[in-house]
Amino acid sequence: MTENETPRIGVFVCHCGHNIAGTVDVVRVAKEAEKFPNVVFSTDEMFMCADSGQELIRTKIKEHDLTRIIVASCSPRMHEPTFRRVVEEGGLNRYVFEQVNLREHVSWCHMHEPEAATEKAIDLVRMAVARAAKLEPLPIKRVKVIPRTLVVGGGIAGLRASLDIADRGFEVVLVEKQDKLGGNVIKWTHMFPSDRTGTEVVEPLIERVESHSNIKVYKSSRVIDFEGYIGNFEVTIESQGRKKNETVEVGAVIVATGFEAFKPKGYYGYGESPDIVTLDELQAMPRQDLLLRPSDGKPAKKIAFIGCVGSREPGKKGHEHCSRYCCSAVAKAAADLRDRVDEALVLYQDVRTYGRGHEDIHRLARQKRVIFSKFEPDEKPEVTVTDGKIKMRWRDVLADDQLAFEPDLLILASAMIPPSDVEETATMFSLTRSGDGFFNPEHIKLAPLTTHTAGIMIAGVAQAAKNASESVIDASGAAAKAASLLARGEVEIESTVSRVDPDLCSSCHTCVAACPYGAISMDDSDPPIAVVTEAKCHGCGTCAAGCPSGAITMFHSTDEQILSMVEALLVPSPISGGE
Ligand code: SF4
Ligand code: SF4
Ligand code: SF4
Repeated sequence: MTENETPRIGVFVCHCGHNIAGTVDVVRVAKEAEKFPNVVFSTDEMFMCADSGQELIRTKIKEHDLTRIIVASCSPRMHEPTFRRVVEEGGLNRYVFEQVNLREHVSWCHMHEPEAATEKAIDLVRMAVARAAKLEPLPIKRVKVIPRTLVVGGGIAGLRASLDIADRGFEVVLVEKQDKLGGNVIKWTHMFPSDRTGTEVVEPLIERVESHSNIKVYKSSRVIDFEGYIGNFEVTIESQGRKKNETVEVGAVIVATGFEAFKPKGYYGYGESPDIVTLDELQAMPRQDLLLRPSDGKPAKKIAFIGCVGSREPGKKGHEHCSRYCCSAVAKAAADLRDRVDEALVLYQDVRTYGRGHEDIHRLARQKRVIFSKFEPDEKPEVTVTDGKIKMRWRDVLADDQLAFEPDLLILASAMIPPSDVEETATMFSLTRSGDGFFNPEHIKLAPLTTHTAGIMIAGVAQAAKNASESVIDASGAAAKAASLLARGEVEIESTVSRVDPDLCSSCHTCVAACPYGAISMDDSDPPIAVVTEAKCHGCGTCAAGCPSGAITMFHSTDEQILSMVEALLVPSPISGGE
């Protein structure tokens, strides 16, 4: 379509089964849309994302010579890529497509007001039609990908990811801040569901990583500078003992920075007796015939565990999440240690042994006569330490009885929390964090391993608390994502970016400070002019909103496009019969 041609808009309204059509009168929305300016075809369909819905779009583009397509359905986060592809298959540029969210923005949030919801749906479609008429085809841009990956973190997830990528023939740069590889797992003596120690699990991985010709390992090292965009990152690594920092170029990044075990000061007497330890500290004790008390080295005869320490605390920031590994880890440690002690007790809020084989561990612990006793979250067990003796009192929920126990060793299943330098890592790689403090994925269900920064993946506990098996699954997934990016050789980048008009830029630097992705810098001219690195730009619009000189245009969200929607809402156009 040339600038002066009249747009020919097609509108496709989706039922989403009962999801949208259960509340919104989709037939009426499609009928109303027929009357909006430039709409030459409008219909409703049960599932627009299904093969039949996709074929409908392709067919109607040809039949009606459509030049703009609107799908009124679910969130664009879910299916915008699908419909953009369909539109391209129909012979149009992907940026002449517009999606209206009738599900999350209408039917789900107004499910008890069907009439109002239908009116709102009609308004949203009218606004989309106004915007679609102003949409411009944009160029499809590609950049080359450097066939090398940076993996940050040498724990079980980082090791697995490195090997998976290296075995596919791509180079890996592995950066670990400690002086040895293996992360938390290498310290543990009671892994589940197998009977192996952490060392037995990760040692073979470490040996392979350290001898792999495609992997370069930097221990006692950290990333101190990180620049670039998908396919073309530049990483500066600082290593203890090396005079010069090293700079490497990579095309993809996997952040596998793991966790720290929470030190539960103020919980259940932790810190008041050497015989009150965390599960992590127990796991680091040598595996031997007798379980010895840290205080005097004598064998512990009676042991107790308490679950959910620093986890599942509503309202306490960073401690509201379930740490997900500890129920199974406690059951495993209790079952193992039961053979060496006279009594073993586990106080729990809930038992969440959800992994494959984990319920067997829980059953085994019970068969070995480990006592499980449930307490209420708001009636936490009391622990006192008097003359070195540990005393526990709690109400057992199931027996509704007040109970007491005096363990020689008390083990607290403390939370998995992010490492202390997590904020530094988040800033370095432009990652966001969720309420539990770990890094946000791009989408919790649909894109759990990628992040909002294209080319950067997260794996293992860096994404959320989880056990070692789940971390390894993540790592292989993230490695597959990285390898598929590298194998492509080049990657498409979004065209919905910002552009600075040099004639209007007043060199104020506002946009440089405002851009959350570091995508704008000032050039060398005098006075300096702001320039956008398009491959780094996420099209968020922050710079355009902040620019006091009106020098910044957002492709695909121009002022004209946005104002046309506002106008369509406030001043509905006179009804047009479409064609
Ligand atoms: S896994 Fe179990 S012990 Fe750990 S936080 Fe969740 S419920 Fe509590
Ligand atoms: S905010 Fe606008 S005027 Fe200021 S430097 Fe950026 S582009 Fe130029
Ligand atoms: S649109 Fe957002 S990401 Fe792009 S340059 Fe502007 S502020 Fe940065």
